Amino acid sequence: MKLPTTPKGWAIHLSKLVTHYHAVHGLDRFPIKVAPLAMEYSRQVFPDAPITLVEGIELSSNFEGMLMPSPHGDGEWGIVYNKAIKSAGRINFTLAHELGHYLLHRHMSPAGIQCSNRAMLDWRSPLGAIETEANTFASFLLMPLDDFRGQIRGQDISLGLMRHLSDRYEVSITAAILKWLSITEKRAMIVIGKDGFIDWAWSSDPLIKSGVFYRARQQIVPLPERSLAAQPGFWSDAGAVVAHPAGVWLGDEEVREMTLYAHRNDITISLLIYPNDVPDKRWGEELDEPREWDTYDQFIAVGQL
Ligand SMILES: [Zn+2]
Repeated sequence: MKLPTTPKGWAIHLSKLVTHYHAVHGLDRFPIKVAPLAMEYSRQVFPDAPITLVEGIELSSNFEGMLMPSPHGDGEWGIVYNKAIKSAGRINFTLAHELGHYLLHRHMSPAGIQCSNRAMLDWRSPLGAIETEANTFASFLLMPLDDFRGQIRGQDISLGLMRHLSDRYEVSITAAILKWLSITEKRAMIVIGKDGFIDWAWSSDPLIKSGVFYRARQQIVPLPERSLAAQPGFWSDAGAVVAHPAGVWLGDEEVREMTLYAHRNDITISLLIYPNDVPDKRWGEELDEPREWDTYDQFIAVGQL
């Protein structure tokens, strides 16, 4: 049988196998558990290079996981995650990401691949960037589009919905939000706040096209003073929602902000929803002087790149 060659191709191929397996054994379709899938599939399809180790090991705090060859030179592989991570969703996504490296990149990286926390957030990069490919694979394996679209159809976008998606697919709430942002027609953005500053942010394509995104840069950007994210009094695990007038968040438009506090990582996760209609003046500006929108230019991490 001819095997896939692209991240999406691999994800769809494995997703079909798992769906079939779950159906035959009367299991729920989701979540997809990566560990047994990685070991069983690699053993059957790549018997000379099976994944024989899937576990948490001690890694420095900057690292989320890695794909590593067996030290015995026997051709076996391991996919591991940082055992300091306690979130089942983050672990599952990391393992899927490493499985993506195994399927797509092990031949070009015989010494293995170490993946930073930032690498897990790199969802939009030039073609061929291996971290983006691994994330694309993980995203489509764990959250297949047909099912994902079915889950959000007719639903109001809320933190509750994102939490439902994160539970259903066993991924972090951040991964569920990034997935939604990567397919939505809405103008929306995720902003991760830490210690009063924007740690990183990510806009949907329609929001980028209307010129609202943070650029990668060296300087540090504080959270807007009047945002929920900047006011610990409003923080909770369940999240809070507010409709801001123009002038609070980037873009000088009304923004609906939903913010939850992730105490484990001491960060705020904010989902910003902008109006569907772009303000007239911005289109005016664009007509006068067309700007080049570079989708790769939006920042993943302010002050980190
Ligand atoms: Zn990676």
